[in-house]
Amino acid sequence: STQLMQGKRGLIMGLANDKSIAWGIAKALADAGAELAFSYQGEALKKRVGPLAEQLGSDIVLPCDVADMDSIDALFGELESKWGKLDFIVHAIGFSDKNELRGRYVDTTRDNFLTTMDISVYSFTAVTQRAAKMMTDGGSCVTLTYYGAERVMPHYNVMGVAKAALEASVRYLAEDLGKDGIRVNAISAGPIKTLAASGIGDFRYILKWNEYNSPLRKNVTIDEVGGSALYLLSDLSTGVTGETHHVDAGYHVVGMKAVDAPDM
Ligand code: NAD
Repeated sequence: STQLMQGKRGLIMGLANDKSIAWGIAKALADAGAELAFSYQGEALKKRVGPLAEQLGSDIVLPCDVADMDSIDALFGELESKWGKLDFIVHAIGFSDKNELRGRYVDTTRDNFLTTMDISVYSFTAVTQRAAKMMTDGGSCVTLTYYGAERVMPHYNVMGVAKAALEASVRYLAEDLGKDGIRVNAISAGPIKTLAASGIGDFRYILKWNEYNSPLRKNVTIDEVGGSALYLLSDLSTGVTGETHHVDAGYHVVGMKAVDAPDM
C-alpha cells in the first residue's frame, strides 16, 4: 500500500494515547503517504497527542471538544486557513458515564442518555457537516462503532443505543453527500483494550469471549483496524458508502459454536 494516500490530507479526531484506535489508523495513513492533522480534547491530552503527531510528521495539533459547536467551528476554521481543502476525516470519539456502562440499560438516566447521544452520535454529523464544505474534490469520512449496536452485549447499554443511531447517521450522511463524491462509512471494531474500553464492565471477560468465539480465534489490533480504515479512506473503496464494515475477527457472523469445535 505504499503511497496510496500521496497528496491526501485529513483530520484524525479521538487520539488519546498510543493504545487508541485513532493511533492505529493514523499510523496506517501516514505510512501510505497521507498528510495528517490531529484534534485533541482538553489541555491534559495535548502533552500526549503532540509527540505522537510529531512522530508521524504532523505539526497540526488543535484542540476540539465536540460537545461545543464553537470549538468545532474553530477547529475547521483553523484547518480551512491552513489547508483550504480536505480529503478525509476519522471520527474515533465516544463517551458515556462509566457508572452506566455496567448494570442494566433500563436504569439509564435522561442526562447521560442525552450526553452519550451528543458526544457519540451528533458529533459525527456536526463534524461531517463542516468537513464536507472543505471536500471540494470529494472525500471520505469514517467513524468507529461496535457490535453492541446490533445485538445486546453485556454492560454496553446506552452506548449500544448510541452506536445504533451512529450507524443510521452513516447511512443518511452517505445519501446526502454522495452526490458530492463524499463517502461515509463506519468500522465496527471488535473489542480492544483502550482507555475508553476500560470504562466498560467485565471488559476482560468480553475480550476472552471474543477471542474464543470468533472465526479467527483472536482479538483484533489497532493496526488491523488501521488497515481497514486505510482502505475506506483511500481510492481503493470509491464504490463503497453507507457501509458498516466489521473488523472483528468475524465475530458478528457466528450464531453458536459447535460443542466439539477444535479449541473448546
Ligand atoms: P480512546 O479512549 O483511545 O479514544 C476515545 C476518544 O474520544 C479519546 O481520545 C477522547 O478524548 C475522545 N473524546 C471523548 N469525549 C470527547 C469530546 N467531548 N470531545 C472530543 N473528544 C472526545 O478509546 P478507543 O477505544 O480508541 O475509542 C475510539 C472509538 O472507537 C470510540 O468511538 C469507541 O466507541 C470506538 N470503539 C472502540 C472499541 C474498543 O473495544 N476499544 C470497539 C469498537 C468501537
